[in-house]
Amino acid sequence: MIPHNLPSLGAEEQAAAIRVLQSNWVAQGPEVEAFENELCRFLNIPDGHAVAVSSGSAALYLALWALDGKKKRVGLPVYSCAALRNAVGMVEGKPVYIDCAEGSPNINVSNAGRDGVDILIAPSMFGIPVDVPVERNFKLIEDIAQSLGAKDSGERIGLRGEVGVCSFYATKLITAGGQGGAVISKNKLLIDKIRDYREFDCRDDSKLRFNFQMTDIQAAIGRVQLNRLPDFIQKRKQLFDIYNQAGLDLLKTSTKSHDVVYYRVVMHCTDPISMIKRSNKNGICAIIPVEQSELLDFSGNYPFSIALVKTTVSLPAYPSLQPEVAKKIASIVKEYS
Ligand SMILES: *Cc1c(COP(=O)(O)O)cnc(C)c1O
Repeated sequence: MIPHNLPSLGAEEQAAAIRVLQSNWVAQGPEVEAFENELCRFLNIPDGHAVAVSSGSAALYLALWALDGKKKRVGLPVYSCAALRNAVGMVEGKPVYIDCAEGSPNINVSNAGRDGVDILIAPSMFGIPVDVPVERNFKLIEDIAQSLGAKDSGERIGLRGEVGVCSFYATKLITAGGQGGAVISKNKLLIDKIRDYREFDCRDDSKLRFNFQMTDIQAAIGRVQLNRLPDFIQKRKQLFDIYNQAGLDLLKTSTKSHDVVYYRVVMHCTDPISMIKRSNKNGICAIIPVEQSELLDFSGNYPFSIALVKTTVSLPAYPSLQPEVAKKIASIVKEYS
């Protein structure tokens, strides 16, 4: 079976992990600091403006905590991943669920102003930058778990709000050895506050903190992956172009000012379930990118999220997928659509 997604881990990642093992310093240490600063350089912010943590979920929680999210109205998309709802719950915020923009997997940010949220979590889904207004009356957390390296007007996204969060889970654009995340911000005070929360041990006050640390083994793998990210993005683009040129009805991704990173190749079809079954019979693993049962809320009316759930399938796309294989997948899928 051709998998839907796969991490790209090779000799360099192995060597990095072994180097850390041999050093005997495996906990959070110099590798984590180096990873943080390399992430800052990648995002074009000064060193010290990123905090590496144990997961994207931890990063989201910390972002909400740093913005005093407790009891605040926190806007989040209904079409997204459960980590968002979990983080809002952990910080004891009041979730306000918001539909996608029509025809887009991204939240309709203009509805956040109307719904009077204090804080908004805006993920850029599938590698497609979400539109965010410059003028807004709420605080913004940009979630780039699925879009590290994507650009808006030539600038890498993640820093358009007060805080940004990254995930380095196994199947994201890059992985820090299976789990990991980061909080990023142009605001050094917020970053310092978050870093302090993570340094829970050997403190001389009684403030509550928590162990959300990344290990040096994870960070060493993450550093190699970050270095490979430009190549990963190029390979993903090549696969998207193959699917696109095969004439599949792909989810619209591009606007003039955005550079997409093609985390998912999503196509429209009238009957996703049977499309997936027939793909499986041909040895291809395709999935519904966000299932109806995975929507974060069921109590409201979210027509654009429901429309996506019912008409989309996500095709295999990852850097090590060979172009010839993608061509074969495209021709098989095309036959059914
Ligand atoms: C994966 C993901 C997260 C959560 O990251 P974890 O590292 O798995 O905790 C948050 N937001 C989005 C949009 C994601 O895709």
